[in-house]
Amino acid sequence: MKTIVIIILAILGAALGSFINVLIYRLPLKKSIVYPPSHCGNCNKKIPFYLNIPIISYIILGGKCKYCSAKIHWHHLLIEIITPLILIGLFLQYGLGILFFKYAVLCLFMIPIFFIDAFHQIIPHVLSIPLIPLGLIFAYIPRSDVSLISSLIAAVIIFAFLLLLAYAYRFARKQDGLGGGDIWLFTGIAAFFGLISLPFIVLISALLGILYFIIFVRNKDQGFAFGTFIAFTVVLWSLLGAERILDVIPYI
Ligand SMILES: [Zn+2]
Repeated sequence: MKTIVIIILAILGAALGSFINVLIYRLPLKKSIVYPPSHCGNCNKKIPFYLNIPIISYIILGGKCKYCSAKIHWHHLLIEIITPLILIGLFLQYGLGILFFKYAVLCLFMIPIFFIDAFHQIIPHVLSIPLIPLGLIFAYIPRSDVSLISSLIAAVIIFAFLLLLAYAYRFARKQDGLGGGDIWLFTGIAAFFGLISLPFIVLISALLGILYFIIFVRNKDQGFAFGTFIAFTVVLWSLLGAERILDVIPYI
């Protein structure tokens, strides 16, 4: 039974990864995600279904378009591999209950956010705002790990706090420091994780962001994609078992 579920999640995950690649390409360009069908971004030739098989097509074509030989960025392959791995990891952590679906939905939003923010320094609203009602719905379901009241309070507190911070920054520096996308994303994540996990997510993503900034960023005026670090931390925290991990860390 377990093996069958893993095989199904592997296939489903690769297909979802392929769809996430479409989102990453089209959402920042404000293009429709359903029409036109898959085509080469360089020569615009339609990609037939037999060349649109996740992972396999990329390897057979050697990461190049069949018609114009334009290089297909390696992140396409990476996403088609990590999406099934994340789903399988969540299944091994939670089984097939409500928590699996909750964190699978959350992680499936985080993958495109990670890459879109890293490539373009934006977080599309269609990927951040829906997280707020979804988080509240999952908290409302009995046997979920976060209560509705915890989810609601966490969302309201973080939204009010970040809004205040954004206004204060704009007032003090006469420019925007905190993107609106970050505020919606954090509010949605607060709704998913509730009051107890939230401080850890904030702390870990801030630490990772600061580390990256110190080690890699040479040009201090360069756009900084904080959403990328939030998305990474959320996937990590979900895979580790969200609130469950707090049970195994003593003295917290
Ligand atoms: Zn092409």
